[in-house]
Parts: sequence; structure tokens; C-alpha cells
Amino acid sequence: MSLLSHKKLISIVVPIHNEEEGIVDFLSNKLLPAVNNIDSYKNEIILVDDGSTDNTLAKITTLADDNKEIKILALSRNFGKEAALSAGLQYAKGDAVITIDADGQQPPELIPKFIKKWEEGADIVTGVRDHYTKHGFIQKLGSKLFYKLLRKMGNKYTVPGSTDFRLISRLVVDEFNNLPEHNRITRGLIDWLGFNQEYIEYTYGVRMAGRPSYNMKKLTRLALDSFVSMSNTPLMFLGWLGAIITLLSGILGLFIIIQQYILGDPLGLYWNGAVQMTVFITFLIGIVLISQAITAQYISHIHADTQDRPLYIINKKNSKNLK
Ligand code: UDP
Ligand code: MG
Repeated sequence: MSLLSHKKLISIVVPIHNEEEGIVDFLSNKLLPAVNNIDSYKNEIILVDDGSTDNTLAKITTLADDNKEIKILALSRNFGKEAALSAGLQYAKGDAVITIDADGQQPPELIPKFIKKWEEGADIVTGVRDHYTKHGFIQKLGSKLFYKLLRKMGNKYTVPGSTDFRLISRLVVDEFNNLPEHNRITRGLIDWLGFNQEYIEYTYGVRMAGRPSYNMKKLTRLALDSFVSMSNTPLMFLGWLGAIITLLSGILGLFIIIQQYILGDPLGLYWNGAVQMTVFITFLIGIVLISQAITAQYISHIHADTQDRPLYIINKKNSKNLK
């Protein structure tokens, strides 16, 4: 037997959506050189084209024509990054699979470090961004709050700053592929799986080119889309209404308490008990509306899981070099 056949396989999975500006630069000048450096392994690069509507697919197809290690898994439309990652993980054959963004924000130079941790026995190696150095104050606060809330709400598994730049061993990939749920956040699920986790801190870079896909326009379109297609949207609308009602009546309530009872009515308004009761009841109605919207959210997730629709659809015509 040749020495080659003993080499283990590393799969690199890259979710890509509308990255025509930077994708060739990223692959040719960053990812491929980094991957070619790890010569003790065979490798495959799975580019998951998540329904790009620009020239991305044509550009990566040209690359794959010249390089058989590059495989293209083309989804039939935009399913979102989570589904794209799931598709890539399903198709990856490697003994270890590394997932990395296509925009250069996650440095491929660190890949050997991830592999080293895996060689030392880690089943999952997660890239953690030192986000406190890069982001503005609001974002810092936002992400701190996000993780606090996540923990409070029962997810004890996710380390703050965890990203989708990670290595997952075959063992964990197989378990991940067996998970049935549809509303998946890859990160959270992989953390939930457990196993032996290690972390590598890195500096989250700036995008090489193009714009992040999750911009306001896309989010708004998504909201409008779901308004038409999802039956719980009216309830979500009521939820937001509830939030506004609660907020406004809360402020009004505080105003009454401070103005009338603490300061002794300097404005001479004197709002009687009936008014106070009305404000209080309005406040409670807001809370009821919010709770309904949250319940609707759970029900819609249950609904999606009972439908048992596939997570993604492969477009075989556009895919390349897959067996
Ligand atoms: N992406 C994707 N499908 C989408 C949106 C994004 O596959 O619907 C890819 C995108 O091309 C990039 C990665 O997911 O490789 C991260 O996306 P982005 O940079 O927009 O997000 P952020 O860096 O803000 O997390
Ligand atoms: Mg990005």
C-alpha cells in the first residue's frame, strides 16, 4: 500500500452567498495556500453556493475546473448560512471538517492550529473571536447581553464569542448529521452535543470585499416574506404591538408615580384612580400580547418540525466534482 492512502482527509466547508467580489481572492490567495501547507493530510474543499444571484457560482466553477480538490455543492436557492453549513457537513467525508466563512473575516492561516488541537485529542475546536477589541460600544454591549440572555434561557453550552470558524471531528459530524431539528443554529447545536471542546482565540478581521448578507434590506425582505407565508406573522405583529403598549403605558405609569406621588403633583394634573387603573390594565394587556407572540413562535417551530421538510435542496446541475 502506498503511503498516500494512509493519509487522513481534512474537509473544509465554506458557505458562500453572493461573494463575487472577494471570493476568488479569498480562495486563491488565502484559503488554498493555507490548506496546501498542511501536507500531512489529504484535503477536500467543499464550497457550498447558497443560491448566489451574482457571478459567484461562475467564478468558483472556473476554480473547480482547474482543481479537483475543490467541490461545489450548489443549493437550488438561498437557504441561509445555517442550512448551507448543514449541507456541507452532510457531504464532507473528512476525518475532520473545518467550517470557515468566505469573506476573509476568519483567518485561514489558523487552520493548522485547529488541526493541531484535534491531533491532541479535541473533538471540537471552536474559534472564539476577541470581539471586545474590534467592535463599537453598542455591539459590545449587545453581544454581552445576548450571551447573558442565552445563558439565562438555558443554553449553558455556548462560550461567549464562539463563531462558526471551527473544526469538528468525524465522530461529532456524524452525530450532528443525525440531529432532526429544522430551526437550527449550527453553533448552538454543536455546543449542545458536548464532546471534548477546545478553543482558539482569533481576531475577527474586516471583510475582504462585498457586504455582509444580513443587511437591513435583506432582513426587511425576510420579514415581508414571512408576513405572507407564515401563519404566525399576525401574532408576531401583535407581539410588537404589545411591546409598544407595555413600553408606553409603563412610561406613563412611572410618570404618574413620580409626578403625582413622589413629587406631590407639581404640574397640578391630579389623575384619579380610574385613570391609574386604565394605565395599569393597558400595561398588562401589552404583556399578554407579548406572551402570545412568544407562544406562537414555539408553535411555529413545532409546526416546521412536524412538516419534516428537507433542510436544503441540492442543485445537481450546478454542483461539481461530487461523487
Ligand atoms: N452566507 C451564506 N448564506 C447566506 C448568508 C451568508 O452562505 O444566506 C455566507 C457568506 O457568504 C459568508 C458567511 O456565510 O461566507 C458569513 O456571512 P456574512 O459575512 O454575511 O455574516 P457575518 O460575517 O456578519 O456573520
Ligand atoms: Mg462576515
